[in-house]
Amino acid sequence: MALLEIENLKTYYYTLKGPVKAVDDVSLTLERGRILGIAGESGCGKSTLVWSILGMVPPPGKIVSGSIIVDGVDVTKLSEDELRKKIRWRKVSMIFQGAMNSLNPVYTAGAQIEEVLRYHGGMSKVEARNRVYELLESVGLDRSIASRYPHELSGGQKQRVVISMALALEPDIVIADEPTTALDVVVQAQILNLMKRLQREKGISVILITHDLAVIAELSEYVAIMYAGKIVEYGPSENIFYKPRHPYTYLLMKSVPKLKGPKESLAYIPGQPPDLINPPKGCRFAPRCPWAMEICSRDPEEAEVEKEHRVACWLEKTGGMRAKLGF
Ligand code: SF4
Repeated sequence: MALLEIENLKTYYYTLKGPVKAVDDVSLTLERGRILGIAGESGCGKSTLVWSILGMVPPPGKIVSGSIIVDGVDVTKLSEDELRKKIRWRKVSMIFQGAMNSLNPVYTAGAQIEEVLRYHGGMSKVEARNRVYELLESVGLDRSIASRYPHELSGGQKQRVVISMALALEPDIVIADEPTTALDVVVQAQILNLMKRLQREKGISVILITHDLAVIAELSEYVAIMYAGKIVEYGPSENIFYKPRHPYTYLLMKSVPKLKGPKESLAYIPGQPPDLINPPKGCRFAPRCPWAMEICSRDPEEAEVEKEHRVACWLEKTGGMRAKLGF
């Protein structure tokens, strides 16, 4: 059994105008020790998807249906208390978006890591203090950082503190939501290398959420592309980057400048993502898709185009991207 199995998950936000279908019928699996990147434009539902795994969807959001099995336990059936005791930090931990600012300014870095160890891990004060030093050293920081306040740390140091917190109770899965946003490129590269090293050493599974395809390419072995609350393509990174089969993925890849090869004009995706209160019928990408057909007014069926490479697009049933784009 996979470490994480999400089946037909629907998570909606209930607004006065109607439910916003932020995650709509998403199924996904994550094997132990793998790094999965989830990419898509802002508002496509990627953050809501991972908040659902931790049972932390903010109100007025709610998991409407589906299941999320983490190591054999359906977290959608757990109470808040059970989620706190059994899942968060222990099984699944999270490096939040804007993590650099998620540290409490009035506590030292060490006190904040210690809190996780004592309240969620049941450690004594002495045990927790020793573990704080170990954790700081594991992310390349000196133990003296433990007694510093967040305002005394650089952006990269704060991010490392947050990563050490996420690793504190040795979870099976670490979710990193835009872990390098707001960092300069040099620190970005250091943080990505650190995450790669820790993942290898500790054998954890990582879910990486980002709109930055370069970050996904650097870290992920598998990629899921989300559009308007749905996963439209999933597969090994190499396939997604070099042989995309969904028009949205194809245009996303074409919109990234390349450093090597002949000069090409950058593609862009016309229009706006749809309103998720009233999404288009059938394929949600249809209003922006240059290859839309009549059949696209029906929900696209998912097809496995190669081993572990799945795509939800009618083109696959009518010749495929391969025929349209010549690969
Ligand atoms: Fe385009 Fe149709 Fe494929 Fe949607 S199903 S991406 S509209 S071709």
